[in-house]
Amino acid sequence: TPPERIRNFCIIAHIDHGKSTLADRMLQLTGVVEDRTMRAQYLDRMDIERERGITIKAQNVRLPWSHEGTEHVLHLIDTPGHVDFTYEVSRALEACEGAILLVDAAQGIEAQTLANLYLALDKDLHIIPVLNKIDLPAAEPDKYAAELANIIGCEPGDVLRVSAKTGEGVRELLDQVVTQVPPPEGDSDAASRALIFDSVYDTYRGVVTYIRVVDGRITPRERIKMMSTGATHELLEVGIISPEPKPCKGLGVGEVGYLITGVKDVRQSKVGDTITAQHHGAAEPLAGYREPVPMVFSGLYPMDGSDYPDLRDALDKLQLNDAALSYEPETSVALGFGFRCGFLGLLHLEITRARLEREFGLELISTAPNVVYEVFLEDGTELLVTNPSDWPTGAKIAEVREPVSKVTVIAPSEFIGAIMELCQSKRGQLLGMDYLSEDRVELRYQLPLGEIIFDFFDGLKSRTRGYASLDYEESGDQAADLVKVDILLQGEPVDAFSAIVHKDAAYTYGNKMATRLRELIPRQQFEVPIQAAIGSRIIARETIRAIRKDVLAKCYGGDISRKRKLLEKQKEGKKRMKTVGRVEVPQEAFVAALSTG
Ligand code: GDP
Ligand code: MG
Repeated sequence: TPPERIRNFCIIAHIDHGKSTLADRMLQLTGVVEDRTMRAQYLDRMDIERERGITIKAQNVRLPWSHEGTEHVLHLIDTPGHVDFTYEVSRALEACEGAILLVDAAQGIEAQTLANLYLALDKDLHIIPVLNKIDLPAAEPDKYAAELANIIGCEPGDVLRVSAKTGEGVRELLDQVVTQVPPPEGDSDAASRALIFDSVYDTYRGVVTYIRVVDGRITPRERIKMMSTGATHELLEVGIISPEPKPCKGLGVGEVGYLITGVKDVRQSKVGDTITAQHHGAAEPLAGYREPVPMVFSGLYPMDGSDYPDLRDALDKLQLNDAALSYEPETSVALGFGFRCGFLGLLHLEITRARLEREFGLELISTAPNVVYEVFLEDGTELLVTNPSDWPTGAKIAEVREPVSKVTVIAPSEFIGAIMELCQSKRGQLLGMDYLSEDRVELRYQLPLGEIIFDFFDGLKSRTRGYASLDYEESGDQAADLVKVDILLQGEPVDAFSAIVHKDAAYTYGNKMATRLRELIPRQQFEVPIQAAIGSRIIARETIRAIRKDVLAKCYGGDISRKRKLLEKQKEGKKRMKTVGRVEVPQEAFVAALSTG
């Protein structure tokens, strides 16, 4: 297909504003999916995406569309809307010339609408503003058309109105894509260059790599080179997606499709990398790509210690399809053998955990998430701490630096006070505030990432009755007064409960954990002190009183069969007991203490 008849576009929106449903209507209207095989959110292929109704991996599809008698090829790239996957969104945008900015006509602009819009403007994409869900009785298209027009600088009348549910306005929208989005530019005679904007592991075919050709042509059987590593591969198959993969004879300038090289691990085919021919290839890669950097760490442990090898196999398999997931073995006194895992953010953690449990049948315990701290010792050593147990204890600390984020909150203006209070309690710094319309406001804060991943979401939701939306992006680091709080049972630290917190929050954390454990750990034959400590300084203390002797004596009297039953029960229970010093703690107590946030 000649470039002048190609249009590459994506749909960007806040979660739930209807991207996937709009993509469904486009698949139907262009005849790519027949009505009878249609299912909702056709492009959300992963189980967990379908279940949670969110898009995690970007998907792309080729749509034939005839406009004023000329056949065009539209490549639609569906992008994830969530902050954890911003890098994938930004690579997907790189493969497009235009973006449909989709906004729920009953909700208006939300935090991720703005985040995605700014990404798209950064890439110089042509923006088509569209209000969706105009079929809803609660829709206020006039109000939100004004909001949108105000943000992107167009006339309210230029904002299209559609219902992805009923299909109203979607034909007109496809026509607008043809007339408004510029065709791709590129040099068909130059050495080939293609951008990898997604790569997915498939059990049968190995890694399937999604590309957009920028210059030249990519053909099956040729040898290609990954420009970031210099690794070379033979192209076993090149094809297009419409909506299932179909092999083709090659992809030219502006075309979007997939290729298969037989590699078995998505890390060999990195999102953002440039592909060129092995012989007479291009000298310069396309705009640089970034290695995904894990921002949030948590320990994952099997509930049943004998599942440890299964957990390792499961992580190995997930990593084939998730270049951003990192893990290494760790052991914990309380929880046994497990893995320290690194994630892009909290949602990434949650999704990974859910997939491990569902797809691999594992029952897991995860420790409280933490960020990465940079610790400078007085002797000049520098440490990266991803696990509270790596916090230096003996040496003198000169400075600790923590990652910070720029946070955008959008909410009805009645909640301004509540939001400000929350942000201040999390060591936030107000950067700015703007009214989107009379009664809706955008607040911008700088906040430590460690505070955001702790319980910020929940706090924001409860204070705004769910009306606020949140987006955040990393923005460097800052020095902070942080300490490690240990929790001790009878003088023995329980590693899984150690946390790195701000000095001013240490007492609250220590007190909360000590109280919680006192309620969860059953009484023993002796008194058990529970303490919270910073180094050797005790900051909180609770005591589990001993069981009185005569209660035990009563238990061991009585008839023999009852006694045997009791013993058997105890033996069974033993397997699930973890011993910390002399204290036996049921694993459930650890799980409960860790899960209440
Ligand atoms: P995404 O997160 O942006 O991909 O949003 P989805 O396409 O998954 O849609 C979120 C929810 O909104 C789903 O329950 C859809 O059925 C619903 N929805 C999407 N478009 C419309 C629409 O035009 N009208 C109505 N009434 N509901 C819609
Ligand atoms: Mg979706």
